[in-house]
Amino acid sequence: MQPFLLYSDGKGNIFEDTSLYALGRTGWDAVEVEEQDWILLPNGGSLYELPGRRGIGQDVNTGEIRLCMKGWAVAAFIPPAHTGLYLAAYETAPDAPTLPLFCYTAAGWYQNQFYVTALRIEQDIRQEAAGYDDQSISSGVENLLKAYPHNRLVAHLANTCALTYHCPAARNYFMGRWECPIPTSPACNANCVGCISFQPQEESITSSHDRLNFKPTAEEIVEYTVPHLESAPFPIVSFGQGCEGEPLLMWETLRDSIIEIRKHTQKGSININTNGSKPDAVEALMKAGLNSIRVSLNSVQPELYMKYYLPNNYEFQDLIESLKIVRKYGGWSSLNYFVFPGMTDSVAEFEALRKVIRETGLNMIQWRNFNIDPDWYLHRMGIGESNEIYGIRNIMAELKEEFSELKFGYFNPPIERMVDFEHSFAH
Ligand code: SF4
Repeated sequence: MQPFLLYSDGKGNIFEDTSLYALGRTGWDAVEVEEQDWILLPNGGSLYELPGRRGIGQDVNTGEIRLCMKGWAVAAFIPPAHTGLYLAAYETAPDAPTLPLFCYTAAGWYQNQFYVTALRIEQDIRQEAAGYDDQSISSGVENLLKAYPHNRLVAHLANTCALTYHCPAARNYFMGRWECPIPTSPACNANCVGCISFQPQEESITSSHDRLNFKPTAEEIVEYTVPHLESAPFPIVSFGQGCEGEPLLMWETLRDSIIEIRKHTQKGSININTNGSKPDAVEALMKAGLNSIRVSLNSVQPELYMKYYLPNNYEFQDLIESLKIVRKYGGWSSLNYFVFPGMTDSVAEFEALRKVIRETGLNMIQWRNFNIDPDWYLHRMGIGESNEIYGIRNIMAELKEEFSELKFGYFNPPIERMVDFEHSFAH
């Protein structure tokens, strides 16, 4: 099976070029893709035309690698729970606009269907597109706004997150299930190149979310999260969302709300998605009753991390300390690992990752697709030529081999799954 290359006419119409097979991209290189790495485009995925970019394909007769001059290149945005194995292969014109903050996975056409280079890394269905019911979301919004008329956070989750951004986590909250978001911080102590909640004026792209513009109180947090933990299946409440800065900057409010929550219920998991920059704050939250942490990063190589996160006042080692502290208190630790084929699977990155897993006793890697313009990212990281690589699928297999207790996924696990995991470890 070799899918044909896709191209667009620049008006949103997509066609296959039957003279060219689709290729994948890793780092700066266009490469052939193995059959096992192609899957049908999953439900909830979408296709993008890439203005100012020509697709790179392989001639079906001669095998020659050449550009498709029939239209713009096409890439896929693959849905949550799936990890992209190759980027879309294309050549960018000098005046091409920077692409917005989405992932650009290789896509092709085979036997009248769209295919992408990806694998399903997570069986949890919490963000399946088909699982959302707009009717029950609307009635959930109506009921919970009535139930908490003075709660600014519930109003934000309703009007901004669920109804404007269509945030999967917020919609699950209003459907009364699974993971519920708790955005708290209008500020951040990092300046990530691809921040989705804040982009400097001078940047050529805009952030896909506006940052929260108020500081919620512990009372506002506790008011809606306790009933969720008490009533939702597999309940999780999570600090640290796409529509805010860094939650650890609000650690006193988080500490007070965790203490208050645990006075009312022992159910579910209290999680924080964070850049991990303040280990002391993390220790205070663990003492208060935090159950799990997810630390986000583009790379476990300090130099590449610092070039991307551009921290105001912390070092790479701080997030390593935060991961260790969570394990010291028996909590669950995950990496929110931004997967970029050609960087994530480079020899240097893989060696650094093995060291971090060993050093921190990490429980889980969430293999997330990196939502960023590939050329723009590599330029900002100063990567002029491709690295020596192992392949995304190969590093996953190697890690499974070396770290049998390490879990892979895409989402924060509920307490029930952590226990299952821990139980499976014990035997
Ligand atoms: S840590 Fe998060 S909020 Fe802060 S700059 Fe980075 S992506 Fe943005």
